[in-house]
Amino acid sequence: MRYHKIPDETIRRLPVYLRGLLFSSEKGRKNISSLDLAKLLAVNPWQIRKDFSYFGDFGTPGVGYDTEKLIRHIKKILRLDGGHKAALVGVGNLGGALLAYDGFGVFGFEIAAAFDIAPHKIGQKMHEVEIEDVERLATLGERGIGLGIIAVPRAAAQEIAEELVSAGVTGILNFSPVHIDVPKKVKVITIDIAMDLARLPYYMPAG
Ligand code: ATP
Repeated sequence: MRYHKIPDETIRRLPVYLRGLLFSSEKGRKNISSLDLAKLLAVNPWQIRKDFSYFGDFGTPGVGYDTEKLIRHIKKILRLDGGHKAALVGVGNLGGALLAYDGFGVFGFEIAAAFDIAPHKIGQKMHEVEIEDVERLATLGERGIGLGIIAVPRAAAQEIAEELVSAGVTGILNFSPVHIDVPKKVKVITIDIAMDLARLPYYMPAG
């Protein structure tokens, strides 16, 4: 089921709430009020109540939200409930760090395959994942991998994106600092770390 009416801004905040709820559940809390969740995440309780109102009423006055129920529901909305396998393309410094990062699992993501063009990298194992020849990208569909992570140099990003799309990938996390063009049905999120850093000094005290 798709929840068409939920605004993008709310969808953007749902993973934040999910992280808070998962943390709270780990601590053994069965219920959490919007006020406590807001405190935990340093966000506005009013915003939380408004966001949750888009997909039904999960709170009981005086008791709060049923943590597990809300976790299940948010996972369902974000379509995280079945887990997702991702393919990483480009195992350089950045790609290698992404492979090493163990924070994807919390949301049910697994980097299940890695690809590179450099002959000396192909066949090597990194963090339990064997680096395959990028020529093998076409096998992604039959392996149930629907997500791609691009960490190749900018000149190769567009071509890799097209190959990922041909292999059946419909979601791309792009770490190359370049815009990539894909068909409308494919969602691309570009993360440009250097660009984020570039707007930080503006907010810092001068001197
Ligand atoms: P990084 O940019 O991640 O810090 P780096 O400086 O080690 O890594 P880059 O030149 O940026 O290397 O390339 C990143 C990785 O992408 C390298 O491992 C490189 O072999 C690989 N790569 C480059 N072109 C392609 C391509 N067309 N297909 C797959 N992998 C590629």
